[in-house]
Amino acid sequence: MNSPIEVIKNEKGILLRNHLDKGKKKKWRFFTQNQDAICVLTLDGQFVLVNSLFENMTEYSVDDLIKKKFQSLSHIESLDKVFNYFHRAVLGQVQNFDCKMINKSGKVIDLNISIIPIIEDDEIIGVYIAAKDITEFKKKKIEIRKLEEFHRVLTENVLDIILSTNLLGKVIYVSPSCKHLLGYNSDELIGKHFSHFIHKDDLERAISDREMLMAKFEHIRGSYRFQKKDGTFIWMESIGHPIIDPDTQNLLEVISIIRDITERKKTQGLLLNSEKLTIAGQLAAGICHEVRNPLTAIKGFIQLIEARTDNKQFFDIINSEMNRIELILNELLILAKPNEIKFVIANIKTLIEESKTLIDTLAIMNNIQIEIINEIGDLSVNCDKDQIKQVFINFLKNAVEAMPEGGKITIELLKLNEEKLKILIKDTGTGIPQPILNRLGQPFFTTKETGTGLGIMISKQIIENHSGTLQFWSDKNGTVFEVILPL
Ligand code: ADP
Ligand code: MG
Repeated sequence: MNSPIEVIKNEKGILLRNHLDKGKKKKWRFFTQNQDAICVLTLDGQFVLVNSLFENMTEYSVDDLIKKKFQSLSHIESLDKVFNYFHRAVLGQVQNFDCKMINKSGKVIDLNISIIPIIEDDEIIGVYIAAKDITEFKKKKIEIRKLEEFHRVLTENVLDIILSTNLLGKVIYVSPSCKHLLGYNSDELIGKHFSHFIHKDDLERAISDREMLMAKFEHIRGSYRFQKKDGTFIWMESIGHPIIDPDTQNLLEVISIIRDITERKKTQGLLLNSEKLTIAGQLAAGICHEVRNPLTAIKGFIQLIEARTDNKQFFDIINSEMNRIELILNELLILAKPNEIKFVIANIKTLIEESKTLIDTLAIMNNIQIEIINEIGDLSVNCDKDQIKQVFINFLKNAVEAMPEGGKITIELLKLNEEKLKILIKDTGTGIPQPILNRLGQPFFTTKETGTGLGIMISKQIIENHSGTLQFWSDKNGTVFEVILPL
């Protein structure tokens, strides 16, 4: 004997089948033309009808399925959910939810399920189920999330600034690196026009670069000065990329990667400087030979004329000017000679004492005392003796010239480590103001009426040819030149 509930169920089952028979042609066609997998279930979930997509998806045939209940296909993880939503649908509400199902071969499929109650004469007699396979979609979603995460980590951690601007040129995104490069927080820049932080002298170029990018859809590279929050400027290189809608081919926004190139600019400057020096060196060799020979001839003839004339008043001037030309030529010649360096092992203390001896007279005349503090004893270096002496003479001469009122020069010889030697030449002179300090070592840069502006440059070159380094510091109490040489 069937229970009353069984009886009701059976009655409803019959109603459902009748309903389907009646409406089968119209309604079922509507469902089967659908892109989704569709089935009809009785109120307790028994399969009554399935379309071919449902068969394909579950890999069960209709005959297999009508012996089953929908719930039996559910993955254990989704079982609760399926029961729950199914129950609510049976009470008359359309339901939609995601769940996992297992097909005949055991594969787990992600589904989006809609359950629609079938109502006839105000009575719910069964449900339609439309199932969408969202396995791929879910995979894509996970991939997108991963990509987003990757993108986030990338943009938040690169040292360059990643900047996105809309077609009007307003910032819509900027990576957090703008804080340490420009001093702004990202949100301070959002909504601002890009021209806001570009130097006015570079703005025209930046705008025309951007117009070019927007017209040709090509990426454009340009260097501009960017203004920091504190008002100062830094050189940055920006590479702008157009972002194009793949469907409409319209430009959507411009993404720029912006890099600090202060260091690169500096190196470029240094390279340019060393290029200049090389050329000066090459020129020097030529000039010296070309000028020296005629000069010797002229000198000879002048002496001849001087001997034969009574009017000697101009000869002093001519001779002193001649000597000056010779002085410059001699300094230039050192510059031209680096190939002829003769390395020998020499006692550095002796070299310094010899240099001092050469300067001593000049020092005494200027009321200057020169002291040598030797902490290295008799250490030797591999060097060209004349050139190293030239270096110390240059520095000592500069020191003397910096102390017109007299003062003190201290030469310290120290051991930096097992391989290196440090020599300090300190004076108590007028010091070198910052703008001049920056230009020290440039050829022909001098502040003296009779200077050549070659001393420091040549000294530096000689030291570098000896694999050493030269540094200097200066303030109003005097100047220190530091020479480091390998032992
Ligand atoms: P010059 O001595 O012919 O001027 P240098 O290359 O030797 O050329 O020096 C360049 C300039 O550097 C000098 O004109 C001077 O202004 C500055 N200078 C060099 N050494 C000193 C020093 N010890 N104290 C102050 N100024 C210095
Ligand atoms: Mg000098």
